[in-house]
Amino acid sequence: MHKNFHRGISVDANPCLLFYTLNMNITLPHYKTKIVCTIGPSSRSESVLRELIRCGMSVARLNFSHGSFDSHGEDIRTIRRAAKSEGTSVAILADLPGPKIRIGKLQTEPLELLQGEEIVLTTRPVIGTSSLISVNYDRIEESVSPGSIIYLNDGFIELRVLNIDKDAVQCVVTIGGPLLSGKGLNIPGAPLLIDPLTPRDFEIMEFAIENEIDTFCVSFVESAEEILRVKEFGRKKGKNLYVVAKIERAGAIDNIEAILEATDAVMIARGDLGVEVPIEDVPVIQKELIHKANLCCRPVITATQMLQSMVDNTRPTRAEVTDVANAIMDGTDAVMLSEETAIGKYPAQTVTMMARIASSFERQRGKIKWSSALQDQLKQYLRNKQIDIPDTVSLNVVEAAQALRAPFILTPTSRGATARRISRLKPNSWIIACNHNQKVCDFMLLSYGVYPMLMSTNDGTWQAVILERLQEMDLIRSGDRIIITEGKFSGDFGGTDSLGIMTVQ
Ligand code: PGA
Ligand code: MN
Repeated sequence: MHKNFHRGISVDANPCLLFYTLNMNITLPHYKTKIVCTIGPSSRSESVLRELIRCGMSVARLNFSHGSFDSHGEDIRTIRRAAKSEGTSVAILADLPGPKIRIGKLQTEPLELLQGEEIVLTTRPVIGTSSLISVNYDRIEESVSPGSIIYLNDGFIELRVLNIDKDAVQCVVTIGGPLLSGKGLNIPGAPLLIDPLTPRDFEIMEFAIENEIDTFCVSFVESAEEILRVKEFGRKKGKNLYVVAKIERAGAIDNIEAILEATDAVMIARGDLGVEVPIEDVPVIQKELIHKANLCCRPVITATQMLQSMVDNTRPTRAEVTDVANAIMDGTDAVMLSEETAIGKYPAQTVTMMARIASSFERQRGKIKWSSALQDQLKQYLRNKQIDIPDTVSLNVVEAAQALRAPFILTPTSRGATARRISRLKPNSWIIACNHNQKVCDFMLLSYGVYPMLMSTNDGTWQAVILERLQEMDLIRSGDRIIITEGKFSGDFGGTDSLGIMTVQ
């Protein structure tokens, strides 16, 4: 880490001091990993949202599985107001529920399912009892056969299929437990006989686009097709939509190359993934996915249960802290909080904890020799494939930044691609990426170490403007080296083909 750059602020300081709050609009946190917070009852007020922003949230996720359009509309307005009051931008992700299979309403809550008892799952809308429960999946009998395993409530309850009748699946409870209405149902390995994009998903997209949202998380992705359909839906409305493919089914892992090619970002949705595939396979899948996403320059979010115990406690478990640090070490761009910030008791403390873990790990990254393996592998990969000009530039930018301990890399970008190419190599320097489009800037909020700056003109003076601001804010000093990328020979703002190095006077 550059000496002059992070001076005087310790990791253990008051959470609000973890930020440089400057009198101009460059606000750099003490870490480069991005924090995604799911917004819910615990966090939808303007004051809590402002606190979350101050503590480190740069992306807000709205989970459309819950809540009405009215409440989501209100949340969108409040998030934007809170970001504006804090003098910053927050990207909003609209998470489409997709074909999540759920059980219906239950007569008593919780309903205790006992091991060894028989229970029938029906597609008829009935009020559930311990012997008959309804499910919202019409073709369940086609997805299972005698002996199939069905999980309820994230895998806490396990059923085994005995017999299949028309619109009813007879099961035995192999692992019992308490069940609540509307809980999820997973059939690991079963073919999904529903369109991964439901009519409800399209209604949500319609609503969200009207509210100027352009980034969608697509749940239960199976192939690249769903992603392309979402993009096509946007194109017909004259919008360029960004897609975050949620990897939570075995089928998605089989099709990962095509999915990565089609999508803008991926989320390792460990909640459903840990039921859809054997839970013990999740760590390897996580590591492989992060690596592949890095190779393709797709920002990757590691999600679910990262600091789960902080839903109820002011401190996380040691295992959770290590999980967050390991995901960062693997090369994740962003870490996500779900229940912790949506319904947890301590949303701001959880974000602060996330920020502290990121800050501590990133500062000490160099100590851990394996963490440089990621960079080496990426460099090897880039050298082995038919390397093109942008890849050559990105590789050399990081090489130069590291060698010269440059605190900043300044990069103009037309669609964010240059910034993402550099970001995947996880340099120690901040990547200041300028663009004239708010949406392009917002999407870059998902990329590790990228600080997007909205520039109103493209008159060739952008470097001077940024340098002046950095100097005014005392973020650079005389003698510091700054790496600058440009589309010098292509004459195109984003057609990066050159690398320059300047010394601050
Ligand atoms: P969800 O997605 O919270 O929308 O289910 C995340 C996950 O499955 O991990
Ligand atoms: Mn999920």
